[in-house]
Amino acid sequence: MAIDATHDPAQTSWVASAQALGADFPIQNLPFGRIRRAGSAEPWRIGVAIGDQVLDLAAAALAGGWSAEVAALLAPLAAGDLNAVMAQGSAARRVLRSALQAGLKTGSAQQAVLATCLIAQAEVEFSLPCTVHDYTDFYTGIHHATAVGKLFRPDNPLLPNYKWVPIGYHGRASSLVVSGTAIRRPNGQFKLPGTPEGAAPDFGPCRRLDYELELGAYVGRANALGEPVPIGQAEEHLFGVGLFNDWSARDLQAWEYQPLGPFLAKNFGSTVSPWIVTMEALAPFRQPFTRPEGDPQPLPYLDSAANREAGAFDIQLQVRLQTAKMREAGEPAVALMQSNFRDSYWTLAQLLTHHTVNGCNLNPGDLLGSGTQSGPQPGQGGSLLELTGGGKQPITLPNGETRTFLQDGDSVELHAWCEREGTVRIGFGPCAGVILPAP
Ligand code: MN
Repeated sequence: MAIDATHDPAQTSWVASAQALGADFPIQNLPFGRIRRAGSAEPWRIGVAIGDQVLDLAAAALAGGWSAEVAALLAPLAAGDLNAVMAQGSAARRVLRSALQAGLKTGSAQQAVLATCLIAQAEVEFSLPCTVHDYTDFYTGIHHATAVGKLFRPDNPLLPNYKWVPIGYHGRASSLVVSGTAIRRPNGQFKLPGTPEGAAPDFGPCRRLDYELELGAYVGRANALGEPVPIGQAEEHLFGVGLFNDWSARDLQAWEYQPLGPFLAKNFGSTVSPWIVTMEALAPFRQPFTRPEGDPQPLPYLDSAANREAGAFDIQLQVRLQTAKMREAGEPAVALMQSNFRDSYWTLAQLLTHHTVNGCNLNPGDLLGSGTQSGPQPGQGGSLLELTGGGKQPITLPNGETRTFLQDGDSVELHAWCEREGTVRIGFGPCAGVILPAP
């Protein structure tokens, strides 16, 4: 995960918008997404974001001028298959990153031909960036776990396993959708407040619909069934990171979650951002992994010198909300909170190693949700459940509207970016979804 020439902050692109102030996609980023022209029946192919454009890798592969090694990597991408490259590990990824950057950098001999391979991002539609066969959601936000634990179990907020086990559950990949897909409010069972113990639950549209601000890490190289990945090799099995909104029906959740955990409160839809930011692009934003004083250190299988020195990532996270009324008035989404992934209780390497320690096999494209990333301060809750104290303290928006939970027509956007002295800012692009009425 070394810093190399591809991270040089002085490097610029002949795509001028890559240098725009606050741009998510400078030449140091180069995330992958799966695209075609909006409204077309064109085949899906992989694209790379640069400024406000996408480099269409199907067109770029045809254009030629690549080494044999790069051409071989571009072939599956041109056919829309990111998983094939995810499976290959970091060495192949670095070769591709260098080649794409050489083609897009200011003064490149490939400028004239690659300029014909650009499509404006405003003119493309996205699918999921890769095929996700399996998805696991972790619970690494200790401030979220504590705040939610207090709501569900005031006397016992953080269960005794939390500081030892990276807690997770198996989610459902079939209902993962890409940013921009509307989410239908689920129907389900719930107990209204005041319903006597033993009385029948109610059934109907969810009344406590919520979002969860999460990162999603995508697995790169597979591990074979029965072969755990030691922490020293964990990052070789990670491809990159995107944003992840784990939409949650809190009333369904409260009634169904015991004894086996989340089920229909979670699997009616989960939204991912269209772009995957690679582990290479994140390299300048690494930082030490530490535990608060007095907290236990991880067991040896979840500990390494490299993980302690640079296993954590400094990634700013933000939730924005736009109500239907705001949209009609032409008012932009408003930020509800901001937090940072460096506050996560476990690193991505620890999640991958823990997931495989029993021999469980992970495949290219598998998704590991981080769990809700709430900050340590009040007002930094990564869900409405936290921001409103379990629905008891409504938040007031700038136009005077209030919210405890999401209403139909509300649009939620997650954002993320990395910013550090001596580096070029990189961003993730939005992860958005609007709520439709229950069927
Ligand atoms: Mn979650």
